Amino acid sequence: MDSEFERRPEPEEPETLHGISGSPGIVVGKVVVFSPLEDGHIRYRLEPGAAVKEEERFLAAVERAEQSLISLRQQFEGDLADTVAIVDSHIRMVRDRMIVEQTLSLIRQKQINAEWALARSLGLIKKKFDHIADDYIRSRFADVEYVARQVAEQLTGQGRSFPAGFAEPVIVAGEDFSPEDTIRMYTDRVLGFLTEKGGSTSHTAIVARSLGLPAVVGVSGITSRCRTGDTLILDGYEGRVCLHPTMDQQRLYLEYDRQHRAFSDEMSWYIRLSSETVDGLRVRFSANIEIPDELEAVIYYGAAGIGLFRSEFGYLQRRQLPDEESLFIIYRNMAAALAPEPVTIRTLDVGGDKLSSHLPELRFSRERNPALGLRSIRFSLREKSLFNTQLRALLRASQHGRLRILLPLISSLSELKEARQVINGVMEQLAKEGVPFNPDTEIGIMIEVPSAVVMADTLAEEADFFSIGTNDLIQYSLAIDRGNEYVAQMYDPLHPAVLRMISQTVEAGHRQGIEVSLCGEMAGDVFTAPVLLGLGLDELSMRPSAIPHVKRLLRHSTFARLTALAAQILKCKDSSETAALLRQYLADNYPDPFIDCNERT
Ligand code: PEP
Ligand code: MG
Repeated sequence: MDSEFERRPEPEEPETLHGISGSPGIVVGKVVVFSPLEDGHIRYRLEPGAAVKEEERFLAAVERAEQSLISLRQQFEGDLADTVAIVDSHIRMVRDRMIVEQTLSLIRQKQINAEWALARSLGLIKKKFDHIADDYIRSRFADVEYVARQVAEQLTGQGRSFPAGFAEPVIVAGEDFSPEDTIRMYTDRVLGFLTEKGGSTSHTAIVARSLGLPAVVGVSGITSRCRTGDTLILDGYEGRVCLHPTMDQQRLYLEYDRQHRAFSDEMSWYIRLSSETVDGLRVRFSANIEIPDELEAVIYYGAAGIGLFRSEFGYLQRRQLPDEESLFIIYRNMAAALAPEPVTIRTLDVGGDKLSSHLPELRFSRERNPALGLRSIRFSLREKSLFNTQLRALLRASQHGRLRILLPLISSLSELKEARQVINGVMEQLAKEGVPFNPDTEIGIMIEVPSAVVMADTLAEEADFFSIGTNDLIQYSLAIDRGNEYVAQMYDPLHPAVLRMISQTVEAGHRQGIEVSLCGEMAGDVFTAPVLLGLGLDELSMRPSAIPHVKRLLRHSTFARLTALAAQILKCKDSSETAALLRQYLADNYPDPFIDCNERT
């Protein structure tokens, strides 16, 4: 290993590359680069009559690969649930027809050795994946490739050439890593992970977060830009990589990391304190989560329940539609773990910008304008059997805690009434079957489109609570695609129209006596939170780690100051005026080294 780290004759220029934050933290270290999979396997034509033996050799390798994955799975059972789920999917895939039968038939028909047939088979599969329009499904070719590699390694008797045990802790870089690779390397003293592919929900990111190691993913060209032995800074907070850093840069980043940690330690003081202003106004701070494993963080950061469980992730990460029983177990466990605090579960919100899925049942025909298409509640009301299954699981779980059902993207009263009718029907059916549930389960709606804001007074008569989804409300009210980088700078949470809509919704809800929550990203942003608090929201729901920060802000404020600020802001004519008021408010009330107010509009 040491020889890989020999000094280069030429010092190289520092270079900063940008990717996506996969897992927080900063490390400085040397990198080991794993180059993309090479097809260096031997190729030969078979002797006449040798195909049957070759097929047997291939099947034996499949068997061994399966066994090796099963034993890997056993090592992590009971621990890293997400990782185990991914290994499970690989175990199922290793005997997939696409890989096994195609390879067997190539051995037979082309009279070629198993390694060659497997490589050709993989090439054919790749062509099929390349034609898939859906980015998510296309990216799942990485799983097929991983599984095929396991079989290839069994055929040749060689493992992937990971150096066994690093002489010093290193940052590992590669195209992408499977969860199995990530874990195997972790045990070899890894400082952090860096990949060319993937996003914040890629396997590497998920596993790195559960291992508590920094990761930056999706850094295009990284495997060719750096070489084993190069020094780099991996900034998992910002999704940045600094190649060939100067000593000054290294010191700066490490200091930044130290401050981050010290600040986080200070924040941990706030975890157990109540969420109230100096003059006693209480606000509920709850958590937004995507997967049940985040429950630990919800409890750790002292969230007052879950304000948004994005249930679609439980569907999109799977290879089969979840059945009622498995959904029930997930929902029941969450409701019971946090009782008597509320657990707000949003029904399936797929389509639009959301990851579409490899599940045929959730596959959407190509829509010209998916954000305005068959998404969220519209999809559920069309696919009633899917909706029924989820509602049965939710209602059955409702008697194990305070479970609240949240309907996404409601845009009219008739839509809400139709959804309520379906819910009532499911309740009647459960009652008929003698299945227990809570008949008073609260049914809330997301306020995410302008029509819902305008009709909020009417909708409030039929809903038990509101949850304002500003991520979508901003996109639909300002006509800015939330995922489009060309107009990203116009995606403006402080736009007066957005703030007035939030204010109108709060007022309409309160007039009808229902609670109003806000669960868009701006709830967890200390820069935007003061105006939300001043507008009188009853609950802010955010990523769990943001809770102590926003709580600290609340505890440094008074109700009187916050409402005066909001009243002033509602008169602002554009967002730069609002930003100036917020900057001033924060400077006066809340010194925080990590809010870069100058970067705001
Ligand atoms: C929102 O739109 O603000 C929201 C919380 O929902 P999502 O981000 O899941 O669309
Ligand atoms: Mg939304």
